[in-house]
Amino acid sequence: MLTLNFICMLNLVLFILAFLFMELVAWSNHKYIMHGFLWRWHKDHHQNDREKIALDQMKFSGLEKNDLFFLVYAIPAIILIITGLYLHVYEPVFIGAGISLYGLTYFLIHDMLIHKRIKLPFLQKIQAKYLKAVVEAHLAHHRPKNSTDFNNFGLLIFPNLFKKK
Ligand SMILES: [Zn+2]
Ligand SMILES: [Zn+2]
Repeated sequence: MLTLNFICMLNLVLFILAFLFMELVAWSNHKYIMHGFLWRWHKDHHQNDREKIALDQMKFSGLEKNDLFFLVYAIPAIILIITGLYLHVYEPVFIGAGISLYGLTYFLIHDMLIHKRIKLPFLQKIQAKYLKAVVEAHLAHHRPKNSTDFNNFGLLIFPNLFKKK
């Protein structure tokens, strides 16, 4: 019984750690890879940046090349889950689930709430202070002062200054 509890706790910890770790991965990939050597995949997500229109008025024509990054994260998560289930080893399953939950959160917040690629009514009504700050912080990323100054590369964790507005 004690071992079973320990295994459950460990899986839960792995699940939460995988989720949190993904914010670090997303931040560093965004800063050093997407705005680095894979800029050609990410460029179309910034195509509206120079037009002085509100973030939610930006035009996204269906899929972006940038969406390929979802596959980059989804494929390892799926492999971890399927392999774990197949081998009856549950740690990778929970790690894969943590990565997947982060992906879903990123999709809901970044693509639905911030960019409104699909207008989900329940997301339009959100008034939570933290989420408003998340939107402000991401807006700063889309409003660089010059072509090299894209600040704020994370999504859920960002400098405090965005919370004060
Ligand atoms: Zn970017
Ligand atoms: Zn964006």
